[in-house]
Amino acid sequence: MMADSDKIRADIVASIRQFVKREVLPVASELEHADAYPSQIVEGMKQLGLFGANVPPEYGGLGLDYTTFAMVIEELARGWMSIVGPLGTHTVICDIIHRFGTEEQRKRFLPGLASGERRGGLALSEADAGTDVQRLRTTATPQGDGYLINGSKMWITNARYGNTFVLAAKTDTSADPPYAGSSGFVIEKGEGFHVTRDIDKLGYKGVETCELFFDNFYVPRENLIGGQENLGFKHIMTGLESERINVAARGVGLARAAFEDAIQYAQQRHTFGKPICEHQTIQIKLADMATKIEAARLLVYSAAEKKDRGERCDLEAGMAKLFATESAQEVASEALRIHGGAGYSKDFNVERYYRDAPLLIVGGGTNELQRLIIAKGLVAKYPIK
Ligand SMILES: Cc1cc2nc3c(=O)[nH]c(=O)nc-3n(C[C@H](O)[C@H](O)[C@H](O)COP(=O)(O)OP(=O)(O)OC[C@H]3O[C@@H](n4cnc5c(N)ncnc54)[C@H](O)[C@@H]3O)c2cc1C
Repeated sequence: MMADSDKIRADIVASIRQFVKREVLPVASELEHADAYPSQIVEGMKQLGLFGANVPPEYGGLGLDYTTFAMVIEELARGWMSIVGPLGTHTVICDIIHRFGTEEQRKRFLPGLASGERRGGLALSEADAGTDVQRLRTTATPQGDGYLINGSKMWITNARYGNTFVLAAKTDTSADPPYAGSSGFVIEKGEGFHVTRDIDKLGYKGVETCELFFDNFYVPRENLIGGQENLGFKHIMTGLESERINVAARGVGLARAAFEDAIQYAQQRHTFGKPICEHQTIQIKLADMATKIEAARLLVYSAAEKKDRGERCDLEAGMAKLFATESAQEVASEALRIHGGAGYSKDFNVERYYRDAPLLIVGGGTNELQRLIIAKGLVAKYPIK
């Protein structure tokens, strides 16, 4: 018999699957090709409480464990990867504020974030500080009861439609190592906060990714996360574990969509007098695709379970992100091949999966960086005897 918690999890996943079938699949392709913001779908996700997915109930959220969270993300990404965008970094900042914020900050920000009235993002990357994020140049200079923020940020998802962000800025520009001089702030849009550009992208359409400019933007001291300077790097890197689980789960969802379309097509398309799924070359592709998806999903659950136990999971989240997203790109590419010429046409969704997959390899920390994180974790796990 199913335990109560398993039943709750199964019900949640089933309700998201229904939502995707009803609200997402019928419109995804049209919205994606028009690069149109999915306002109605976002509203539906608000109604479902998904903006509070990882916010504890005492602050108005669903308080899902990370395994259920990963299952939800898989379902959404299977419908359309872009709709996970409004949730992705939003849930990262919920995690950071909950884990490292003061009680006053939790009470002030989490209920609004959980309801979706506040919509969040992570303002971390800069034009010259992506992988090497400790080199960021945005500064926070003390001014009265707060700080003045000056600098610019690049690639910030949710920046146009969002209103509340976690920003990383230097409070000590001479710190050695440089990461020791970064602080995290919860910021709300206001004077001096400028969205200067929406970046036109290969895929991940419909959701905005922007460049920001801060010109003497004032942040009160009570918005410094945890009330302590120079701990921003640790706060944000811990938060990024949840981003990696999320990105890995997106990979599983996208790969599943590509596989499901491919196996349908392979049974309908005939060549040489039989369905192409009866040609051995296509069978091998399908078998490899499904195996990669299953393995990726198990890695995601393994990282999520460790995070649920309250342990650091850089190694597991890194492995999950690496394998699931590389698999997503491979599966999308194989799905396109299985579709033959049709795969290259906008009449089928497979060209979208093929354009969306590469983001997963870069976003949330590139897969080259994941390999560095994994190797570092392995050396720590296997010290010299
Ligand atoms: C669509 C999109 C949305 C995004 N959303 C956000 C967001 O909401 N918030 C945010 O803060 N950021 C966001 N990002 C930024 C993303 O996190 C960065 O693009 C990513 O971390 C890589 O940084 P970079 O682009 O500066 O590449 P670079 O750091 O310049 O890397 C270039 C190449 O060099 C490799 N490389 C770099 N250093 C090493 C090394 N030490 N060893 C081996 N290889 C290395 C990289 O893996 C990569 O292949 C987004 C990016 C995209 C494309």
